[in-house]
Amino acid sequence: MKKLLLALGFFISISVNAAESVILMIGDGMGVGHVACRGKQGGFLATQTPAAMVSTSNSEGEITNSPPAATAFSCGIKTRNGYAGVDRNGVPCPMMISRMARDAGYTVVIATNDSPIGGTPTPFFARSVNRYDAGDLRAQFEATNIRVISNEAGFGSSAMARFPNRARPARVEFGTQKICMRGRRPFFVMVEEAAIDWTSHDGDFANTMRHMADFETAVQSAIAFVKANHNITLIVVGDHETGGLSPETCEFGSFGSHPNASGANPNSSRFNHTGADVPLYAYGSKASLFQSATPIENDEVGRRIRSILFP
Ligand SMILES: [Zn+2]
Repeated sequence: MKKLLLALGFFISISVNAAESVILMIGDGMGVGHVACRGKQGGFLATQTPAAMVSTSNSEGEITNSPPAATAFSCGIKTRNGYAGVDRNGVPCPMMISRMARDAGYTVVIATNDSPIGGTPTPFFARSVNRYDAGDLRAQFEATNIRVISNEAGFGSSAMARFPNRARPARVEFGTQKICMRGRRPFFVMVEEAAIDWTSHDGDFANTMRHMADFETAVQSAIAFVKANHNITLIVVGDHETGGLSPETCEFGSFGSHPNASGANPNSSRFNHTGADVPLYAYGSKASLFQSATPIENDEVGRRIRSILFP
C-alpha cells in the first residue's frame, strides 16, 4: 500500500507540471557484438530493435575514449581524447545537461560502478583537459553539488550507504528510482556500467558477458519504471565499441582492434576501442526523437537529450 501511494504521488506530481525527465544508461564499450553475443546466451537487448546507430568519433575524427564520448552526451559537443566537459579548445562547455538540470531544481544523479572520476562520469560534473589529472578531478568532485554515486567505498555522498552492492548496476538503478520518486521533481539520471569496457580490453569474454547481463537487468528495471510512469524518456547506448568483438564468432580482435595495439586508450591491456557505430535504444515519452534510419552523431544524441529536458 505504501508503495502504491508513493507511485501515485509521483504520478500526480509529474502529471501536474508535465516536465520531462531523462534516464541515460551507458554501457561502456558496448557495441553490436556485445549485444549479439549476449543474445546468444538469452540476453535481453538482442530482442530489442535499436532506434538508431550512433557514430562515436571524437572532434578530431579519431577513435574516441570515454571522456569525449561522455562529453558528447553531457554537453552536446565533440571534443578531444582525454578532454571532459570542455570543447576541443579546452573551453568549458556552457550547456552541460547535468549542471543545467541541477540549476533548474531537478533531481540529478550520476551513478557508475567506476570511480567517480572515471572517464564516463567525469564529464557530467567536471571540466578538464586532462582526464588523468586525478588531483584536479577529485577537487572538482569534492566541490560539486551534483550527486555522484560511485563504486568507491568511503567516497562520495551519503547515498553510498544505500547501495551495499555497489558494483551491480541493477542495484544502483533501483536506488536511483527511489531517489527520483522521493524527489517528486523532474530528473536527469545517468547510470554507467563501466566493466563491459574493462573486461573487453582484457579480451575476457566470460566476464564481458556477465557485466552485459548485469547491465541488461538494470535496463529491464528502468524500462519497467518508465512504462509505469509518464514523462520519462530512457536512452540506452554504448559510448564506443571496445575490443572489436565479432557479432558472429564472438571473438575479440575481429575488427579494428588488435592485441597490443596502441591508440585511443594507453591503459589498454590487450584490445582497444574501435570506431564502430554503437546501438542506441530508446523508450518512453520522447523515444521517437531518437528514431533514425541513418547513424546519428554522438553529440547530436546529447543535444536531443538536452532538448527533452529544456525544450
Ligand atoms: Zn576503454
